[in-house]
Amino acid sequence: MHIVDLRSDTITKPTPSMLQAMAQAEVGDDVFGEDPTVNRLEEMAAKRLGKEASLFVASGTMANLVSQLAHCGRGDEIILGDQAHTFFYEQGGTAAIGAIHPRTVPNQPDGKIAPHDIEAAIRPDNIHFPLTRMILLENTHNRCNGTPLDVDYMNRVGKLAGSYELKVHVDGARIFNAAVALGVDVRDLTSEADSVSFCLSKGLAAPVGSLVCGSRPFIEKARRARKVLGGGMRQAGILAAAGIVALTEMVDRLADDHKNAGNLAQGLAEINGLSIDPEIVKTNIVFFNITRDDMTPEQLAGKLAEKGVRVLPTGMKQLRAVTHYHITADDIEYALGVFAKVLG
Ligand SMILES: *Cc1c(COP(=O)(O)O)cnc(C)c1O
Repeated sequence: MHIVDLRSDTITKPTPSMLQAMAQAEVGDDVFGEDPTVNRLEEMAAKRLGKEASLFVASGTMANLVSQLAHCGRGDEIILGDQAHTFFYEQGGTAAIGAIHPRTVPNQPDGKIAPHDIEAAIRPDNIHFPLTRMILLENTHNRCNGTPLDVDYMNRVGKLAGSYELKVHVDGARIFNAAVALGVDVRDLTSEADSVSFCLSKGLAAPVGSLVCGSRPFIEKARRARKVLGGGMRQAGILAAAGIVALTEMVDRLADDHKNAGNLAQGLAEINGLSIDPEIVKTNIVFFNITRDDMTPEQLAGKLAEKGVRVLPTGMKQLRAVTHYHITADDIEYALGVFAKVLG
């Protein structure tokens, strides 16, 4: 059966050149700072994001957690969107592990948090209140249709944070999707941020890992936080080798994923029983709704899966499809055909 797996870009498998690089990687003990391949990846990532230093970690969740632990202390407060991945999908590690208080403010449909909402949430100096320490932005915004947040907005929030002496962390799990979609250098999106994390293991197709980038003192704190979380890995160069290939060979091609996602959204918009505004799809994430009452998202996903098309139910009426390295333009055609058949 022809399988078109659109559940997530995390299902991507390492490319042939990644496997070759992994097999040949020069390695050492990274907890001693002696893995040359990890060191090379960290240098490369820092330069690419326009920061002094970077740290290789096991996952995006760990990247966000070590960043919060490095910027904040017990009882400090962070401001983040109510749709943020860090708030929704990271087991509340902010509070559970960090003893950091999450203050959510509404995400707009485009993933932004209105600057006046941020400003209104910043605590004045008062013995009753926690101390506001950090603002967390997400770019692209996963739960807000994968929308890229533009350079002006990122700079504006950075300046706002600076004027209150707050840190800014960018959860940039898909920051390269944002840069490619907006046609800008990724550094322009992160120049006002104190720290930024991104995933190698999503659209960039590496098997494992994320990087956190920031100033040298911040990265040293993040390195301590990684160790206490059990994230100090030894010959991690095996994994970092794939990450180097991801950064070198897999960024520019994200444009193909965006094109395929746009075509998928256009096609879904023409199918009876589904609703989606294709205009909102700017990167590789496609959320759509089922409008029929006789079928739940789970049932639709089940029927599609019987014909090889895998999507993710994400809400009472909502489903998600994500394009990635293994999805071709022909796969999109095929998937749309299956949708039409199942809903016809
Ligand atoms: C996937 C994702 C993460 C977490 O990454 P994991 O490697 O799955 O832990 C964090 N933030 C965003 C926006 C994500 O999409």
